[in-house]
Amino acid sequence: MNVLDRCWSHVGRRGGPQLVSLQPPDGRSRNCLGSEGRAIHELMHTLGLFHEQARADRDTYVRVHEDNICKGYKKNFKKQSLENTTYAFEYDYNSIMHYGKYFFSKKRGKPTITAKLGKKVRLGQRRAMSKTDCLKVNHLYNCLKSRRYYTLCNVLGI
Ligand SMILES: [Zn+2]
Repeated sequence: MNVLDRCWSHVGRRGGPQLVSLQPPDGRSRNCLGSEGRAIHELMHTLGLFHEQARADRDTYVRVHEDNICKGYKKNFKKQSLENTTYAFEYDYNSIMHYGKYFFSKKRGKPTITAKLGKKVRLGQRRAMSKTDCLKVNHLYNCLKSRRYYTLCNVLGI
């Protein structure tokens, strides 16, 4: 596998050049350029955001079905430390950083992650930043001291 296959990025600054892999379309798939959201997702990682379902408190909100996860991909569903995931915002099912219900499923129709609390919610999307995604990234970079960023996120976030 080529280092620039698939869609990925390291989380946060590592020093020196930072690779963001956005595999271009080929004959079988649009790969990482199927929507703007896929590129935004990877760039959000670069800015320091982990997956929403990696939050330390995620077990209150979602259930991970390890038996349904493709071999070799269970690490993608690991939780992060509280320090990495303490955000002053509610858990966001609509986050561009949240996996969908069937991501990395080893069999069609077998979910790898579902919402708890009896919620019938769609998990994740790759269209645009949610309002909460926008607030989180601005919070991470201390930009929320200014009221206008709240307004921007409320206007631009989905
Ligand atoms: Zn990701």
